[in-house]
Amino acid sequence: MARGLVIARTLKVLDRAIGRYRAGGETLALVPTMGALHAGHLALVRRARRRANRVVVSIFVNPAQFAPTEDFSTYPRTFETDIAALRAEHVDLIWAPPRELMYPEGFATSINVKGPATVDLEDRFRPHFFGGVATVVAKLFTQCRPDFALFGEKDYQQLKTVTRMAIDLDLKVKVIGIPTVREKDGLALSSRNAYLLPAERAIAPTLYRTLKESAARIAAREAIARVMSEGWLAIEAAGFAVDYFEARHADTLRRVETAQDGPLRLLVAARLGKTRLIDNIAA
Ligand code: AMP
Repeated sequence: MARGLVIARTLKVLDRAIGRYRAGGETLALVPTMGALHAGHLALVRRARRRANRVVVSIFVNPAQFAPTEDFSTYPRTFETDIAALRAEHVDLIWAPPRELMYPEGFATSINVKGPATVDLEDRFRPHFFGGVATVVAKLFTQCRPDFALFGEKDYQQLKTVTRMAIDLDLKVKVIGIPTVREKDGLALSSRNAYLLPAERAIAPTLYRTLKESAARIAAREAIARVMSEGWLAIEAAGFAVDYFEARHADTLRRVETAQDGPLRLLVAARLGKTRLIDNIAA
């Protein structure tokens, strides 16, 4: 079937494209994004390309996952360069719904997620975040009906929350997690890195370095509580305000006492000036 990038802004155009793929018996992979695309997003797109016949990338800056105090209005929007990057990756379809389509007047439904969404990590600092993510992702899944959906491990609690939701609601989509893409110095790529001032950018790799050092110490059988509290202090000493720096069970995200309670995941969120960064690694 003919290829070439389709940019859909209405359900009619989206349905027509997806209907064509389905009529041809093709599989579909969805990569949900908020745009401002970087190499991390493109790694998801490449994995999607390998996984399915057709790749859909959604671009929607979802107001429901931002608190009033957060950066919705200033979140980077780079639609034209995003399209060029996705065209170069041979993406089939960009789904760029307008806000009124995602949240029409009278919109009154939301997905209430628990389990990995209520473990006192991101949810403690961003109480509306996972409800907003789950609701928009449920809509994207319903609209696009993908066989696969790819999410970054960078947002680890989000990956676990969406995976759980897809199972619990029988959404018939396989959620696939993709390892975090990093700068050479270890900083996880993020659209929000653009906010970092040069001095902050120089400090930012401390997060990944401390995660790695802490994982190595836990592997060498040092006590988790001590490793994590010393890591917290090291991150603070570098100039961050730490929201959390914790070792959790890698699947449930529940608290752990010892490495035997694992597999473990170390997760961090910390603020540097006006920018809030998150990261995580396996331990
Ligand atoms: P966002 O546009 O920030 O909502 O991210 C869209 C998707 O890209 C999410 O599944 C993120 O987890 C993923 N992502 C963001 N940054 C990275 C990264 N550095 N490496 C891998 N995936 C990422």
